[in-house]
Amino acid sequence: MPRFILTVLVFALCGGVTSVSAERNLTRPPGTTRYAAMVKQLTALADFDKDHSKRLTLTSLGQSVKGRSLWMATVGHGPKSIFYLCRQHGHEPASTEGALAFLDTLVKADDDTPPAHLLDAVTVYVVPMANPDGSEVFRRHNSRNVDLNRDWLRRTQPETRAFYSALLRLHPTLVTDQHELYPDDARPDFTETAGPGSGATPEVIAACDDAQAVVQGALLAEGFGTVIHQVTDTHPARLAHRYISIVAGLPTLLFETNRLPGRSVGSRAAAQEQFMLTVLRDVAGEREQLLAEADAWRAAHPPLLASRHKAFQRPTGKPPVTDIQEKVSD
Ligand SMILES: [Zn+2]
Repeated sequence: MPRFILTVLVFALCGGVTSVSAERNLTRPPGTTRYAAMVKQLTALADFDKDHSKRLTLTSLGQSVKGRSLWMATVGHGPKSIFYLCRQHGHEPASTEGALAFLDTLVKADDDTPPAHLLDAVTVYVVPMANPDGSEVFRRHNSRNVDLNRDWLRRTQPETRAFYSALLRLHPTLVTDQHELYPDDARPDFTETAGPGSGATPEVIAACDDAQAVVQGALLAEGFGTVIHQVTDTHPARLAHRYISIVAGLPTLLFETNRLPGRSVGSRAAAQEQFMLTVLRDVAGEREQLLAEADAWRAAHPPLLASRHKAFQRPTGKPPVTDIQEKVSD
């Protein structure tokens, strides 16, 4: 049988679309947090919190295929809320590390000091490890070899069902879905949201668009360059950020960190953590301040590589994206 036909047959037998994001073997970076260590850290943080600010609650949203609890940390008590979904892909460790650092800061900050003061306005929900079975073996898929971030339309897996039902129950103001690029993917860190043509409502598109622009400027002011992508097609909404914004109607920001060789997990986790904090500040009502910080940064720095980044300029009504600064890898 000709090789091409054989390939097509194997592709079809494997379920077609799921094979597009086939597994690739990556090595777990030393020192990254595994499931048991994550549970221990969350439990220790809850114990600390009991004797201090009493801000943190741990909830299991369900169980993975292999019976691991899908932990969600809740911090704060504001009327608005953010649902941070980290690490649907088990071999993308930076969002777990960033989320644990973010939670540690939120719980241990003194009352009324940043960022604890934001927790009167916003309730924060964090799932630091959405795919614990895949994370444990450092694989992209869950233990049934399903890519969870291609499963949102049908929700065949206990993990996607658990997160979907939490979203229906909590109805957050904003959702994030946090990932990492493959080590040979040279694209810079980026956010992606529902744009015109995606099928999301005008309200959701406007909310996504505003949040994305604010987050980009604010991250830049902190030394984290990102570019902006928007969903403008009508591909089936199998990915979380597409499904949640287009079908479920909740504004959602996808965030991806680049992991070219030489950029450490620590550096990527710092970007993930800063992204989470920036989103929190924005939803908590600090948008004007974030915009002012971004303007101040731009005023102090000449536009960089304007022509190179012309492709990323926003279509209308938004400040052009001409300044991108790569975060220095450590
Ligand atoms: Zn991913």
